[in-house]
Amino acid sequence: MSQRRKTRELGRGERVLPGVWRLRLPLPWPGVPHCNAWAVAAGDGVVLFDTGMHQPGSMAHLERAMDMVHLRPELIRQVVLTHAHVDHCGQTTPIVLRTGAPVWGHPAHDHLTKWLKDPDAYWERRVEVALQCGVPEDPVRAASAALRHDDLGIAGSYSPDHDLVDGVVIDTDLGPFVTVETPGHAPSHVCLYNAERRMLISGDHLLGRVSLYFDYGYTDDPVGEFLTSLDRVEALDARLVLSGHGRTFTDVDGHVRANRLLIADRSERCLQAIDGAVPGESDEGRTPFEMASYVMETEVKPVNGSWLLAEVLCFLRHLEVTGRVRKVGTDPDRFALA
Ligand SMILES: [Zn+2]
Ligand SMILES: [Zn+2]
Repeated sequence: MSQRRKTRELGRGERVLPGVWRLRLPLPWPGVPHCNAWAVAAGDGVVLFDTGMHQPGSMAHLERAMDMVHLRPELIRQVVLTHAHVDHCGQTTPIVLRTGAPVWGHPAHDHLTKWLKDPDAYWERRVEVALQCGVPEDPVRAASAALRHDDLGIAGSYSPDHDLVDGVVIDTDLGPFVTVETPGHAPSHVCLYNAERRMLISGDHLLGRVSLYFDYGYTDDPVGEFLTSLDRVEALDARLVLSGHGRTFTDVDGHVRANRLLIADRSERCLQAIDGAVPGESDEGRTPFEMASYVMETEVKPVNGSWLLAEVLCFLRHLEVTGRVRKVGTDPDRFALA
C-alpha cells in the first residue's frame, strides 16, 4: 500500500462488546497506520480512553468514528490517558475544549509535555543523543534539519486534572477499571484493568503485534521497568486486551512471553555485537551506532535512526544495570562486555 493511500485512511468505529467501542483513528506514520481510542459506556455518556493524535482534520476522524457507532464527542464525560505519547493524548485539549470533560493521566507526563514548552530543545536533544551514540555530526545535523517540523502531533499542552496512579478507579457501566502503573514503554504508562470482565486496556504496553519501544533518558532502566510491568500485567490474568494499536486479542500470556523473548533476543544481539559481530573503530567496545543495525535487524536511516538508537541505548543500559556490559567510553558512548 502506498504512502498516499495510507494517508487517506479515515476514522472508523466498531462495537467490540455492548458498551465498548473501538475508535480507530488514522496516523501519519509509516508502518503504524492507526491508533485506537476506546469508548466505554458510563451513565449517560462514555469514558474515552486515549484520544488519538492531533493533525489537520483529526477531530473530524474522531467524529466520524464515533458517528459510525452512534456516539458523538459531546457524550465524552471523562478522558483517560494510558500514556503521554502524542498518538494517545494529542487531541486532549480540543476534546476538553469541546466537552469540558476532566482528564485523568499519570503525573510523570513531562517526558512529553516539557518539550511542548520548548520544541527547539526537543530537536536539539535528538541531535545530542545521536552524537552520544557515535553518529557522525554532519549527517546528524542534516537529518535533523530535514526532519524537523513544528507539528509534534499534539494540540497545545495538557495537564491532567486527576492523577492516574496505582489503584485509581474509573467507573463505567461495565464495572470499574483499576489503574495499574506499567512504566517502560513510557514513564507515564498505565494500563486499566476491569477484573469483573477480565478486560485490560493496555495502551502500548501490550500490542497485538509485538513491537518494542522505550523512552530513553527519563528513567534509569526503561527495559527493566518494562519487564517488571509485564510481570504485573501477567499476574492480572486478563482474557481480553484492548490495545492502543491493532485489533483486540485474547492470548495475553503468549503476548507477554513474546515480549520477553524479543527483549532477550535484542539483548543477546547487543552482546554479540560488542563481542565482534560488527566492526568498530575502537579496539575496546562498540558504539550504539555501530551496533544498531545488527541489534535491531534493520538498516539505520535518518527517518528511523532516532528511534533505533534510543532502543539500543535502552538495551545497553539494561545490560549495564544487570552486570553484563560496561561503558568504556563517553564521547561517544562505547560499551564492552563486563
Ligand atoms: Zn506509546
Ligand atoms: Zn502508540
